[in-house]
Parts: sequence; C-alpha cells; structure tokens
Amino acid sequence: MNSMNQQDVLREVFGFEDFRPGQGQVVERILAGESALAVFPTGAGKSLCYQLPALMLEGMTVVVSPLIALMKDQIDFLVGKGVKAARMDSSLSAEESRKVWDDLWQGELKLLYVAPERFSSERFLNRLRRSRVSLLVIDEAHCISEWGHNFRPDYMKLAGLAVELEVERVLALTATATASVAADICESFDIGPQAYVNTGFHRPNLVMHMTPCTPELRDERLLKRLHSPTRGATIVYVTLQKTAEQVAAQLVKAGFPARAYHAGLDPLERHEIQDQFMGGEQAIVVATIAFGMGIDKSDIRTVIHYNPPQSLENYMQETGRAGRDGQVSHCELFLCPEDIATLENFSYGDTPTLEAVSGLLTELMAQADEFDVSVYDLAARFDIRNLVLSTLLTYLELDGVLRAMGPHYNEYKFQPQRPSVEMLAGYDEERRQFLKKLFAQAKKGRTWFTIDLAAAAESMGEDRKRLVTALNYLEEKGELLLKVAGLRQAYRFVQRPSSIDELSQRIYQRFLNSERRDIERIEQVVALSESPECSVRQVLAYFGESLEGDCGHCDRCLREEIPPLPGQSERALSQKEIQAIQKVCAEGHQALAHPRQVARFLCGLSSPAASRARLTRDPRFGSMSHHRFATIAKGAEDYCR
Ligand code: ADP
Ligand code: MG
Repeated sequence: MNSMNQQDVLREVFGFEDFRPGQGQVVERILAGESALAVFPTGAGKSLCYQLPALMLEGMTVVVSPLIALMKDQIDFLVGKGVKAARMDSSLSAEESRKVWDDLWQGELKLLYVAPERFSSERFLNRLRRSRVSLLVIDEAHCISEWGHNFRPDYMKLAGLAVELEVERVLALTATATASVAADICESFDIGPQAYVNTGFHRPNLVMHMTPCTPELRDERLLKRLHSPTRGATIVYVTLQKTAEQVAAQLVKAGFPARAYHAGLDPLERHEIQDQFMGGEQAIVVATIAFGMGIDKSDIRTVIHYNPPQSLENYMQETGRAGRDGQVSHCELFLCPEDIATLENFSYGDTPTLEAVSGLLTELMAQADEFDVSVYDLAARFDIRNLVLSTLLTYLELDGVLRAMGPHYNEYKFQPQRPSVEMLAGYDEERRQFLKKLFAQAKKGRTWFTIDLAAAAESMGEDRKRLVTALNYLEEKGELLLKVAGLRQAYRFVQRPSSIDELSQRIYQRFLNSERRDIERIEQVVALSESPECSVRQVLAYFGESLEGDCGHCDRCLREEIPPLPGQSERALSQKEIQAIQKVCAEGHQALAHPRQVARFLCGLSSPAASRARLTRDPRFGSMSHHRFATIAKGAEDYCR
C-alpha cells in the first residue's frame, strides 16, 4: 500500500470520502515520523488516526488499550479488508493464541492489539525487541497520568517501554484530558506542541441540566424527564449495583421499558441488554459506569446522572454518549447530598495505612537481590487492595528501587494431546530423557497433570527456565494444552533505599495525595451542580477551553430557578453509634486494628484482610455507610485508642 496516498487509502480501504476534524492533522504528523497526542471526543474517529498510518508505514503498529475486548469489530473489519490485524488477550482459545504468536514470529502482523498488562510478560517483550515497531498507540492515554481520573499503574511504565523497545513514534489517544493531563502525556512521550491536536470539547447540541435535590424530589423529576415526548433512547447512570436494580424496578412499575445493567450480571444477560438498547429508539438502561464503553449508538437522546459522576472527566465522558448524531439531546445531573459520602467512600477504600505500607516495605527490603512475590498473598497479609499493591510496586520501580522481571507461574497444568511415547519419538536422546523426567515430576489429576516448577527444577537439577521453555514449546507444537496458576511477580533490586521509614512515608504520602485529588474531583462536581453560572462554560473551562459567551441553552442560561442543595445530612455520631464503634474495636479483630480499617468496615468498603476474616459478612459491615468515612475514622481514633 506504499504507493497509495492517504486519500486513496481513506477511500479504498475505509470507504470514507474525507477526514473528520483533526484526523488529517494527526495522520500528517505520524507519517512525518513524529509522536502525537489526539484529544477527540468519543465517537469522533480516533481509531482511524492510527489505522490509516499503520497500513502505510513499514513495520508493525502495536495498539495498547484496556478495552481490547471491545475492539473485536474493528479487528474483524480490518481482517475483512485483507489487513493482517490481531489481538492478544486472555479470551483467545489456545489455538487462536498460537496463531497470533506464529504471525508475530513471522513478522507478518501489521496491527497488534494488546492490553497494557501484556508488557509485563518477558516473552512478549523479547519478541517485540526483535520486531520493528513503527508506531505504538496508547488508547485511553489519560490513564498514564496521576492527575487523571483513571490512573493505572501499568500505564505509567509505557513511556519507559517506548524508549526501551525503540518504537519509532507514539500516538496517544484520549477523549478526556485536562491541560495538566495533556501536558503530562506530551512530556512522557516527547510530543511537541504542533503534534497535540485537540478538537475541542464543546457539544452545542447537548442541553445541560443541573438539579440539586432531595431523594424524593429526584424520583419525581426523573419521571417527569422520562415522560418528555423527546426523551428517546436513555441512559440513567447510578453509582451502586443495587441502585441500578432498584431504580429499574421502580421505572418498570411506572410503565417504562427499563433494564438494569451492571458488572454483577452475567455476560450473556449484559449482551442481551446492550443489543436491545442498541436497536431501541425508546430503550432505557439504568446502569453503573460499566455501561457505555464501546457503545456506538448515535441517537441516544437522554443521559441522566441519578447519582453524580466521580469527576468532571466522567461527566464529560458519560454525557458525551448523548447526541452523537448532532441532534438536540438532554443531560440531567441530580445531586443529593447523601450521594456525596457514597462517592467519597470509594476513594477512601483504596488508601492503605502507613503501618501496612511500612510493614510491606520492611518485608520486601529483607529479600535477596532477586526475588518473587505473590501480589494476591501480600495484599491479603498487609490488607492492601490488589490494584493498590500493584501501584505500590510500580512506584518502587519508577523510583528506581526495583525492576520488574515479569510475571511467572509456579504451577503449570497440562493435558497431553497424544500418548507420551508418540510425542517423545521425534527427539534426540538427551531431550527425550529430559522430557521423560519432566513428565515424571507431574502429578496426575482427573484430566490435567500438575507440576510445581520450583520443586521440579530443584529435584531434576535443571534450570527452571528450561522447564518453562520446554512446556511452552510443546504447547506451541500442539502437543499439549497448558494452563498456569500460582502467579508470582519477579523483581530485582536496582538500588536499595537508605531508609525504609523515609520511603514508607513518601509512598504513603503519594497515596494520600491521590485520595485528596479524588475527593477534590467530587467537590468540583458538587460545585458545578450548585453554581448559578452557565454549566457548559464551567465544564469547558475545567478542560482549558474558553467559550466566547454563555452557552445560552443550559438550565442556568435559561434562568430556570435553581434549587439550592438541601442541607448536608451529615451529623455527629450518636451515643449509640460511638458505643457500636467501641464494641468493634474492643473485639480486637486483627483485620480491624487501625481506625481506617474500622471505618472501611463500618462504611461497607471491603478490604483483603476483612474479606479473609469473613468480616464482610458480619451484619455490621456497611451498617454506617450513611456516615462519612472521615467521621467514623475519627470516631475510632478518638474513642478507641
Ligand atoms: P473514537 O475512538 O474516537 O471513540 P472511533 O474511532 O471508534 O471513535 O470511530 C467512531 C465511528 O466513526 C466509527 O464507526 C468509524 O467508522 C467512524 N469514522 C471514523 N472516521 C471517519 C471518517 N473520516 N468518515 C466517516 N466516518 C468515520
Ligand atoms: Mg476509541
């Protein structure tokens, strides 16, 4: 396709007459060999910005996305056009996955889609080191920034990897980036100002309504909005799964075709609801934020936030699903003071205690220069959530203390596809003996053989690596099916810290800062919904965009009367509640030793240690969730210590 120019490829491969706003500019920069950042709203066509150059550049384009499951259609489309495109994720069958590895090995792939965690695989990295990666695409690039609302630790490492893998250029894509997030991305990937293309956030066809109210009023206003003759396909966003169920039931009772959608439903049911929504002009889905990503429906007329979003970025992204066809659509945000505590508590659930951080670091620092750990096991023992623990380990990497050596599995399970005599026939004597010994180490279960690698290597006097290579090789040959278990992460010390205390403080502070930023983001949503000024103008200002005048059609501009936010329902702890807190403390649960742990428990925020101790089934778990986290933590601090 090298002889074709951009316009030809656009027309002949993709079937589009023209570029959409921003696309041409991004493609230009990429083809000129520069890295670029594209900030376009969802649905504006970010994918084309890499798909088109991918076909024109020599070498391979690697697309990193946390949502590759949603990119199946895109890949099918490309494959249908004769493009060698594939994805690598855990949903592939053994056979499909082998095919992708083969193509990758042969250097035949033009486009490869992977999830970010794939980069912690040594095998994958080794392969990429030997490939020519002409373009690395980072979808949802705001995840790399700690200033972003959706920071992901494995994204933080991508900048270093881009350099290490000598990728020729990087394209970062996102629909939501404040000025500081954009600056962070540009700095991380060395993107110049000329290659930062932002098509703007203003969506003049969306009419914004902000409604602070009591829960009773909210239900009334919701029905009123849904009865509007122009409501069309509607999404109602809620924070909790149980709210999705409750509100959907309530709407069905009122005669609406509403369905609840959340991550707790089984995948089949979720697909069914989604398909129904895609096809329906009047469908209503009451959903947690699990709904909407990858939904490409242009005629959604109404988006309602029954509970407020976590941040203005979320607000933008969620309301941005309305009116993609450019027709007038309505977005309404309800804000009840009760909801603020629920949102805030989500942030508090993540922050580990200083004791947990320093306990963990003390244990890590006592390890040999090379060691491996099970994140799952550490998370439970130190009562730090899995994702938070991974973040902590990533901080240690970025601080130059550790270097990840990739995940490995200590336990392999395999199922031979033909008798071992036949399998072994093709090898020379040395290899045959080796494989025989290896098989002898395996324990036979009903259908699978299990092998403990560390133990097998030790007893065979072989290097663990040779065992892994052999098993993977046999799997690639189709001789056996392979499964892995007992995931462990290997690390090497780069530089041991001079003071564990100082390091613990620094890392703990980092978590506290991130908690504070989360809380501030919620405060910004509250401030927006209470403000008498033009809503659209304020949201745009947050994203660094200035609107000439007021939007002229949000409810603030239309001078609808603005109901004040009802008084905060937060009250002091009652005598009975104080006694209840004291009782929990006095019971001396190991998983509830710290005031923060007590507050998590009473607010209903699960944590690894509390779950293990089955405390999440205690009737008091979540019994004070109407209180703010800080109130209970302070109660436990004041009355129990
Ligand atoms: P984003 O990733 O920005 O949310 P996508 O890349 O998924 O958006 O594109 C959304 C839709 O727009 C897709 O259906 C795509 O085929 C279509 N599209 C993209 N570019 C063009 C174009 N230049 N002309 C017409 N349609 C386009
Ligand atoms: Mg996209």
